[in-house]
Amino acid sequence: MVAPWIGALRDDALANDRYAYDITEGLTTEVGQRMAGTAAEARARAWSVAKLNAMGFANVRVETFDMPVWVRGRESAEIVSPFPQQLVVAALGNSASTGPSGISGEVVAFDSVDALRAAPDSAVRGKIVFIDHRMMANQDGSGYGQFGAPRRAGPTIASQKGALGIVVRSIGTDHHRGAHTGVISFADGVRPIPAGALSIPDAEQLVRILRRGQKVTMRLRLESIRIANAQSGNVIAEVPGRDPSLAPVMVAGHLDSWDQGTGAIDDASGVAIAAAAAKRIMDAGRPLRTIRIVWFGAEEVGLFGGLDYLKRHGKDPHYAIAESDFGADRIWKVNSKLGAARREEARLLGAALAPLGIVTGSFDEAEGSDIGPLLASGVPGVGLSQDGTRYFDYHHTPDDTLDKIDPAQLRQNVAAWTAMLAVLSGGIEAPRRRAKR
Ligand SMILES: [Zn+2]
Repeated sequence: MVAPWIGALRDDALANDRYAYDITEGLTTEVGQRMAGTAAEARARAWSVAKLNAMGFANVRVETFDMPVWVRGRESAEIVSPFPQQLVVAALGNSASTGPSGISGEVVAFDSVDALRAAPDSAVRGKIVFIDHRMMANQDGSGYGQFGAPRRAGPTIASQKGALGIVVRSIGTDHHRGAHTGVISFADGVRPIPAGALSIPDAEQLVRILRRGQKVTMRLRLESIRIANAQSGNVIAEVPGRDPSLAPVMVAGHLDSWDQGTGAIDDASGVAIAAAAAKRIMDAGRPLRTIRIVWFGAEEVGLFGGLDYLKRHGKDPHYAIAESDFGADRIWKVNSKLGAARREEARLLGAALAPLGIVTGSFDEAEGSDIGPLLASGVPGVGLSQDGTRYFDYHHTPDDTLDKIDPAQLRQNVAAWTAMLAVLSGGIEAPRRRAKR
């Protein structure tokens, strides 16, 4: 059922791929962190254009867009009383700046966003809110949805109740002493307040201090600056198909990263997996359909790249779209949403991936951050789910660095994406196969 040439391309990627590691290593080493809208992200775009051209892709280009930028400054947190000591903190993206002198206030603790929401304003006004939670590691990373609420919703609610500032237990699953950052957006009309994440050991320390029953005073300094308008962009490259009239298959990741680590698992590996698979198809010959690679800009701070792509290309036909943005550990499930008329193709995709240990999931779901708006508008898509068991140990921390990439699991990703492209791109006309005719 699965053509032998598809299995051969898949198995060669699994055994031999070097493209994905080469891109991941190069981007994290030669550029490093790639905070959206900054000079670092601009260097990443220049690096990417040079790299994609050197790999032989066609139509390499950048589509730029403007966006507001938030840049981290100096930051610290300390318990002033009853037990003076420093805590490890990181400002959350779009936090208000405390200025250099910081803020001081009594800590009021909640074990969930709902508990904060239910509290009377008088319990919160003029204080520093702390929100705890119990996120646990799991394969599908589903805890991030629920337990990310302290970061996503907490700052707005705290501000509405008159809080001076807010710190949350890092949205993560490790016990390293690095804090997990991430974006926040204050609801319209809500005054931004200083907002940070404590490392998980420090959040647990704060809980123990609070349990002693004395009034706890914290001093918080989270400095940052805002630039109203800066430039970001999406980097695009293609493997031209034999029939340019057909809708392209799009594979994607995001080029920007948070500023603390070097963005290896989030998301250098993702852009690398997408491009490596396209390169392996190109090496084998010419696909029927064009393969379009998109390395989105400014995902972390609000999906600006995905929204710009939607604005420019949302009406263009796409045969299928997929995005890699969950680290580099092995793929364990394939979901797709190709439509009822393409059920056989979806089954074939599952069969092509099964030898990699990948289970076939839903025929009516696909996911991806930057491509989310496109998927929501009805564009067909595929979701290759990666093992997220250790993803939230490193996600958005200083520990997101190259050493967290397991080369063997990275190759399994490339093998799966190569097999997916082999199925979706409509067949490859290889020089060898042509010669046989
Ligand atoms: Zn990401």
